Amino acid sequence: MIISSCAAKPPLETGAFSPSELVELQQLDPTIQLDIRYATSKNFAGRPVYSEARAFLQRPAAEALVKVNKELAPLGYRLLVFDGYRPWSVTKLFWDITPKQKKDFVADPKKGSRHNRGCAVDLSLWSIATGREVTMTGEYDEMSPRSYVAYAGGTSEQRALRDLLRSKMEQHGFTVLPAEWWHFDYKDWKSYRIQNIPFNQL
Ligand SMILES: [Zn+2]
Repeated sequence: MIISSCAAKPPLETGAFSPSELVELQQLDPTIQLDIRYATSKNFAGRPVYSEARAFLQRPAAEALVKVNKELAPLGYRLLVFDGYRPWSVTKLFWDITPKQKKDFVADPKKGSRHNRGCAVDLSLWSIATGREVTMTGEYDEMSPRSYVAYAGGTSEQRALRDLLRSKMEQHGFTVLPAEWWHFDYKDWKSYRIQNIPFNQL
């Protein structure tokens, strides 16, 4: 008999959910910058886990993100998106390859991630002046205290940028994850199902 501690399939969810309408961010606003790290080997898995460098969110979350991006432009920034909707199989893979003491930084596949619902986004700020990602208090997906929203280290400029991103996102219905300055959940995430559809089938 084989006993697995992790489910091999997404959790079964009962009840009523909103219909899914995953939209591609750059189709709504091509000025949103993308750096889809999971389509490259520059990520904590050390290899590409997406075959396409694309980002999707449920329509209300995507439209809110466009508003944030527009408000940042006069301040000299655009949004730089690392990840949006994530098929459940990728959440499962992340859990399996993450050591026990670091599991706080990844979602339990038995519960699924808000990324699987198309209602979470990982992002930073991109400077219009330099054409590059700004320097935050820590790196994206860094599994250390520098990722905490309340981390008091780094430079005052880095903390100000981190706090600017958070305040703009909060004004448009997103909530930051306290352990990850880059991760935001959209307010309606509970009303969407966990999904396991690959990008090329959306
Ligand atoms: Zn995230």
